[in-house]
Amino acid sequence: MRMVDLIQKKRDGLALTDEEIHFIITGYTKGEIPDYQMSAWMMAVCFQGLSKHETTVLTHEMMHSGDVIDLSAIHGIKVDKHSTGGVGDKTSLVLGPIVAACGVPVAKMSGRGLGHTGGTLDKMESIPGLNIMINEEDFVKQVNECHLAIIGQSAHLVPADKKMYALRDVTATVSCIPLIASSIMSKKLAAGSDAILLDVKYGDGAFMKTIDDAKALARTMIDIGQSLGKDTRATISNMSQPLGRAIGNSLEVKEAIATLNGEGPEDLLELCLQAGSHMLVQAQKADSVEKARIMLEETITRKTALEALCAMVKAQGGDDRYIRNPELFLQAQEVIAVTSQSDGYVKDLEAMTLGLVSMKLGGGRQTKDDQIDHSVGLILNKKIGDYVKKDEVLVYVHTNTGLSDDLKKDILSAYHLSDEVIEKPVLIDDILS
Ligand code: URA
Repeated sequence: MRMVDLIQKKRDGLALTDEEIHFIITGYTKGEIPDYQMSAWMMAVCFQGLSKHETTVLTHEMMHSGDVIDLSAIHGIKVDKHSTGGVGDKTSLVLGPIVAACGVPVAKMSGRGLGHTGGTLDKMESIPGLNIMINEEDFVKQVNECHLAIIGQSAHLVPADKKMYALRDVTATVSCIPLIASSIMSKKLAAGSDAILLDVKYGDGAFMKTIDDAKALARTMIDIGQSLGKDTRATISNMSQPLGRAIGNSLEVKEAIATLNGEGPEDLLELCLQAGSHMLVQAQKADSVEKARIMLEETITRKTALEALCAMVKAQGGDDRYIRNPELFLQAQEVIAVTSQSDGYVKDLEAMTLGLVSMKLGGGRQTKDDQIDHSVGLILNKKIGDYVKKDEVLVYVHTNTGLSDDLKKDILSAYHLSDEVIEKPVLIDDILS
């Protein structure tokens, strides 16, 4: 078999056989197929697409390019959750504890943030002492003991994706539904859970800009999961504005803790309750989403979800006093208010712009090796649908480096006001299964 023939075949819109896909992924992972041929093949996929069967085979080959985690020693049905990423998305830190407090084992491997989106691991590391690099044996033990562990992905998980993603990033082949779907699902499947709940976001702050693309991506991922025998479902949620009010690592952890204390923002809570209800049904802990929702709400009123988070933090070497007393988190040196220059209803709120401001304050990475300042970020005082008066505060900026005119301009440019009354946007458009 020659890679050049397979590039040509895909370029001409023909379907590849299982053996041909196996040849491409094993050859590329081993370094036998060079980057330039893989780039050409992935570009051909962007133009010609892959059939359902090809996408499933590609995912399966990628998943088996490295370690596949065995979670069979964990008791019960393990449900993993994956969000396609967004600004202010701290759902894992709420969803993990509320689902775990209902007795569902949550064994989650998370990633770091890059660019305008934050990563759960970076957020967790604002809790002093917390260790996210745990070996598989301790990971399994922790989930059996406290139902919840969130750790960094093993370095040997899906090496094919590591190479392919780095190449896609520099060859304009990231936004391609079969490539995104196989990238995400190969990692989820290799991480070993029995069922998967996907939160596929669309809008300014997300990978998918339109709801139709988000649904197409969700459908593709559900098909992959189902064809490999995993119960897979997806929420389609709106990322046209940041989720909740906090953007930035420790600020987001504090918002997640407030939510577990029953004092969080409505949109974050609603997304977690809806996604969590499906997870409980997938784990066979409830026979309807309505009953599941009541169980989840009780974990907040009875503070059992907060206890689940404390137990996880403690088990991973973190200082759980920070969870019980969030005022202990390191504060930024200054909090600067940015105020509105006119009156009106907030019509649009550019999530991506605000995510980039938080990153430039030091809260995120421009390159993989950048250090993060966990204390900085933004608290949004106004969101879409809110009325704002001239000189009223739009955003509180938590900073250790002041606020440059450029960043202030960026914040103001993220807010679009209207004289007309604006409805609050729908948060969850659909749930696909
Ligand atoms: N996240 C992934 O893991 N892979 C993609 O291709 C896009 C988003």
